[in-house]
Amino acid sequence: MFFLPNNLDDYIVAHSEDEPQILKDLTRETHQKVLQPIMLSGAYQGRVLSMISHLKAPQRVLEIGTFTGYSALCLAEGMPAGSELITIDINEELEDMVSKYFTRFCESVNQNISFTQKIGPALEIIPELDGKFDLIFIDADKPNYIHYFHAIMEKVNSGALIISDNVLWHGKVVEELKPKDSSTPILLKFNSLLKEDPRLQTVLFSIRDGLTLSRVL
Ligand code: SAH
Ligand code: CA
Repeated sequence: MFFLPNNLDDYIVAHSEDEPQILKDLTRETHQKVLQPIMLSGAYQGRVLSMISHLKAPQRVLEIGTFTGYSALCLAEGMPAGSELITIDINEELEDMVSKYFTRFCESVNQNISFTQKIGPALEIIPELDGKFDLIFIDADKPNYIHYFHAIMEKVNSGALIISDNVLWHGKVVEELKPKDSSTPILLKFNSLLKEDPRLQTVLFSIRDGLTLSRVL
């Protein structure tokens, strides 16, 4: 988490479910082998994603921005047998690591989830996806968030949940804009768009870097 005093932060983490061993291992390997491990969802947000997924028990999940698969595994925790998870990431170098951990996850929980990794620019891939989703996690490049929003609204069932990450952008959404910052102006518009869209019920949670839940009416 970013915004709370450290002692409160520690207390909250200590009184939430522990991070599963597989995610600890994934985190260690990400730090050893991959640049920018800061992009990992992290233990506390991971438990939040797992909880949301368990509550929703989604049949079809789409993740935009997978990195090394941390959040995908958290979402998979709450998916029922026979459900389907599709992830998108532009970075082909991460594909093998994500597959390895997903296989280990399915073996460890004896869970049967169909898993497909799509590699490439999300904006090209989303329109090509068949069918609709019950849960979509938006966590790729921030300058494209508004495009992702419009693209996924074609792909959601009624009652679906859209989870959007990093919507507070280290607090920059309430600071003076820097001329070269291409992400914050988009996030400002994105956050307003979610709030104003009559097709959604939206609540922005101050979890870690800001996590918005939007329920499709
Ligand atoms: N969801 C992950 C973190 C994702 S980090 C977790 O919580 O652990 C953001 C990811 O978005 C990176 O892996 C990056 O490669 C990917 N990304 C950036 N631009 C993209 C694009 N245009 N299309 C698809 N993925 C993209
Ligand atoms: Ca993120």
